[in-house]
Amino acid sequence: MQAKFQELKNRLIEVNDINAAAGVLHWDQSTYMPPGGAKARARQTATLSRLAHEKFTDVAIGNLLDTLTPYEKSLDYESDEASLIRLTRRKYERAIKIPAKFMAEVATHTSESYQVWTKARPANDFERVRPYLEKTLEYSRKCANFFPGYDHIADPLIEPRDFGMKAADVSRVFSELRKELVPIASAITSQPPADDSCLHKHYPETQQLDFGMVVAKKFGYDLNRGRQDKTHHPFMTKFSLGDVRITTRSKEDSLGEALFCTMHETGHALYEQGINMDFEGTPLARGTSAGVHESQSRLWENIVGRSKGFWNCFYPQLQKTFSEQLLPVSADEFHRAINKVERSLIRTEADEVTYNLHVMLRFDFELALLEGEMEIRDLPSAWRERFEADFGIVPPDDKDGVLQDVHWYFGLIGGSFQGYTLGNILAAQFYTSALESHPEIPNDIEKGEFQTLHNWLRNNIYRHGSKFTAPEIIKRATGKPMSIKPYINYLRTKYGELYSLN
Ligand code: ZN
Repeated sequence: MQAKFQELKNRLIEVNDINAAAGVLHWDQSTYMPPGGAKARARQTATLSRLAHEKFTDVAIGNLLDTLTPYEKSLDYESDEASLIRLTRRKYERAIKIPAKFMAEVATHTSESYQVWTKARPANDFERVRPYLEKTLEYSRKCANFFPGYDHIADPLIEPRDFGMKAADVSRVFSELRKELVPIASAITSQPPADDSCLHKHYPETQQLDFGMVVAKKFGYDLNRGRQDKTHHPFMTKFSLGDVRITTRSKEDSLGEALFCTMHETGHALYEQGINMDFEGTPLARGTSAGVHESQSRLWENIVGRSKGFWNCFYPQLQKTFSEQLLPVSADEFHRAINKVERSLIRTEADEVTYNLHVMLRFDFELALLEGEMEIRDLPSAWRERFEADFGIVPPDDKDGVLQDVHWYFGLIGGSFQGYTLGNILAAQFYTSALESHPEIPNDIEKGEFQTLHNWLRNNIYRHGSKFTAPEIIKRATGKPMSIKPYINYLRTKYGELYSLN
């Protein structure tokens, strides 16, 4: 059995290596590749992902999984070996249900759709991309229907990103959250907004990036196994557990941009760098779900990086770095500026409080489109209506309305947004549990020390990689299933101090 298990592992490592090579190509494309390389690069990555898919869906893997079933049953559920077999089986059974021909068709379609979107958005021309989006919706339904027996047609589309969550679970959590969130958001936004003009002076890029890396290293980002480069859309990517990279972007007239992007991606990177090294090259060596991953970027960016305690320690350094710009600004003013809450059009620029309303709108629309309750052609007007109801403002155009996010134009419809809000909810739940075990964490943060928090997260979440599903990790780490309570408490406490709430 040991030999069979080793054979399975070797095959999985080959698949991993092809995917890692594709990851390097993608990273290069987003950072340093000249535009002339785009066409061939698209072909090269398509070739690699086809090869990886073929290798992973090889019948030999299915046979090995069958042969290993008694071995798996003889092992402890929590053992690394049983977990690897279990996870591989889950992924294999999904992968073989989607025909390779369908995958290739979808890849060609979404890359065309993406090209059209890059022109349609600046031109504010939804009609131009509408036929592509209609086709995407068809493909999305078709994809879901490779998995008959679902409760909701969105379930099979949510599964690869947030396994263990169904559309009904997400809807229930979101509607609970919505009830709490709407009054908080409107109590805050009916007051005069915080003055954030101090963030919009001239801040030279090099100093911004250097300061961000000082913070990333303090959080625990290991630069022997990581690096940061610039890109248009920041992301974290991993080629192995020894090479976990982040990217950021900066604006010289906006101090928050690079700094909070860096903190966010560092959170993702800490998760990947914290995974048990023994898992290298196997499917266990990655974060367990989109929601849990996002909980880590949000925890480091928002709960730590936008806290009063953090800036009590770091603001004097920031002031020294940008003495001319920040000398007249007090730490309190700065703290209020980086936590400004306002009704805004763009999801990615939204604050901690209103952000989730952007996500819920998209999630509800995904369900309605998949159910056939909403047509693609109705999207722009439905967007405006819902936006007005939720935010009290109407987007002046589609460019900053339905055309703003790349997700639907570069992938399937369904499952692409819920992880962001699950991440916000879970960030607070994990942080609250860490505090229960280590009440000294806020004092540590004020001293610029993050080890206790980092260790708690590593021991309870990071090191397990994908051994456990998201619901299992949440239960193990916090003793409870997912709950919105810690998140609501966090928002009430923090924003109750910054604004008056009631
Ligand atoms: Zn993220």
